[in-house]
Amino acid sequence: MMTPMMTSQLTINMLMRHAEKVHGNTEIVSVTADNPRHRQTYREAFRRVRRLANVLKALGLEQQDTVATLAWNDYRHFEIYYAVSCSGMICHTINPRLFPEQIEYIVNHARDQWVFVDATMVKLLEPLQDKLPEVKGFVVLSDEAHMPETSLRNVHCYEALLAEASEEFEFPEFDENTPSALCYTSGTTGNPKGVLYTHRSTILHCYASVAPDVFGLSVRDTTMPIVPMFHVNGWAVVYSAPMVGAKLVMPGPKMGDGETLCQLINEEKVTASAGVPTVWLALLDYLKASGKKVDSLERLTVGGAACPFSIIQTFRDRYQVRVQQGWGMTELNPLGTYNGNFSPEVEALPQAEQDQLLVSQGRPVFGIELKIVDEDNNELPWDGKSSGAVKARGPWVVGDYYRYDGQTLDDDGWFETGDVACFDERGYMHITDRLKDVIKSGGEWISSIELENCAVDHPDVAEAAVVGIPHPKWTERPLLLVVLNDGASLTEAEMLAWFDGKVAKWWVPGACVFVDSLPHTATGKLSKKDIRAEYKDFAWP
Ligand code: ADP
Repeated sequence: MMTPMMTSQLTINMLMRHAEKVHGNTEIVSVTADNPRHRQTYREAFRRVRRLANVLKALGLEQQDTVATLAWNDYRHFEIYYAVSCSGMICHTINPRLFPEQIEYIVNHARDQWVFVDATMVKLLEPLQDKLPEVKGFVVLSDEAHMPETSLRNVHCYEALLAEASEEFEFPEFDENTPSALCYTSGTTGNPKGVLYTHRSTILHCYASVAPDVFGLSVRDTTMPIVPMFHVNGWAVVYSAPMVGAKLVMPGPKMGDGETLCQLINEEKVTASAGVPTVWLALLDYLKASGKKVDSLERLTVGGAACPFSIIQTFRDRYQVRVQQGWGMTELNPLGTYNGNFSPEVEALPQAEQDQLLVSQGRPVFGIELKIVDEDNNELPWDGKSSGAVKARGPWVVGDYYRYDGQTLDDDGWFETGDVACFDERGYMHITDRLKDVIKSGGEWISSIELENCAVDHPDVAEAAVVGIPHPKWTERPLLLVVLNDGASLTEAEMLAWFDGKVAKWWVPGACVFVDSLPHTATGKLSKKDIRAEYKDFAWP
């Protein structure tokens, strides 16, 4: 049928063609185990992508086959993303921090045919390889000189394969709804679930994420995604940077190392970066201890967990860096809301009110519709008071988990995000909890996130967790667990007094326990399930 306008397919191939022609001279800089500072341009990268596409074909891979990666953020991982998806195959990124049984489960569930593995992670796969019957072989991301000793069967060296392959390759044409990448949730409850992104969902998400009031990414930027490429496609920066022609800096295995991050920011003149709150704490600790500055840095995107105000404030007041919070999840590709530029109306508000908005998760980005509902699925108003379960829909929201028997969406076609939030009249979302972490005390909800943020704002506190523990009178009461900064000392009474006047009286935790460390999930979030299990019989004072 003739349509009034062309129906060009929104594919990652289109993005690759654009970046190669228009932004060919822009650099990708990486840290890898075999090279502390590797540099190549987008043009060179896409030439290698075509070599790799020939390699994939020679390995016997076909359209719709799944190829797994266990890799850090670097140029080789970038090349695999493009060669696999643009060949019509599916790039399955695996989080190396998952338990070995979870890695075994998802490789088999995804039916991965080949695994591309970083040289530093081969030891992780060796004991698992016999339990992965569909995997035909392994490609180690290294040059020949740095190939590790390994017992992996049918193993190849990435650079040796590329060296032998041709630079000519005709990528196939296909429908924009073809799957391009696969990511599993970390499975805090039950087995991990797979979300299969499509070319279309990726491109539309990319358009939304580069907009001025979102990441605001442009050709003038140098961006350093610290969020790993095995975690929701590194928040898609691997696509959005080539889309706009931003220089890309990839920290490889050095993601949590404040010194390397500071060095990369200063030497490569990074203007924008993205990562979870703990990464920014590591950078702040390093800056404080070394007295160094990060003058080129303009803004940081923080997401994946709520960001305490102290991080936002320190970067703003001491380093002139704007911290912008985003909210999302694996099922949303990941972007749902973003706290970017303030409108003139908000900028005219008193500073304290603006600060309150800064710790919120921001507003829905265009393309994502959100609503909050009560326990009977009745929609609640955005009035700054009503709090309910957040549901989402839009062209980059999961429709059906990969090879899943259960129901992914509700009967009206909305996806239940598992988060509880309140929206104000301007559309700012304030997440109060994960549905499964909600604390109900005396019939009322208490926000564990708000209490944790308040505790972490104390200068002596390094990390805090609040969980609901059964209580004889109130059904549940919040219990606070605190990790203190090195050398700090604080009594329970002093810690609890910190909440006076900052939260409602009955929200103040019933007790505080000081611990050396807190348990985390594979994506670096507090594992409240483990904390609740450990303290389930806590004796309230
Ligand atoms: P998982 O941890 O399940 O693997 P995700 O990384 O997709 O998966 O985590 C998504 C969850 O992380 C969200 O549902 C939400 O609870 C939490 N989250 C993400 N961003 C924020 C934020 N800015 N503030 C508070 N919570 C957040």
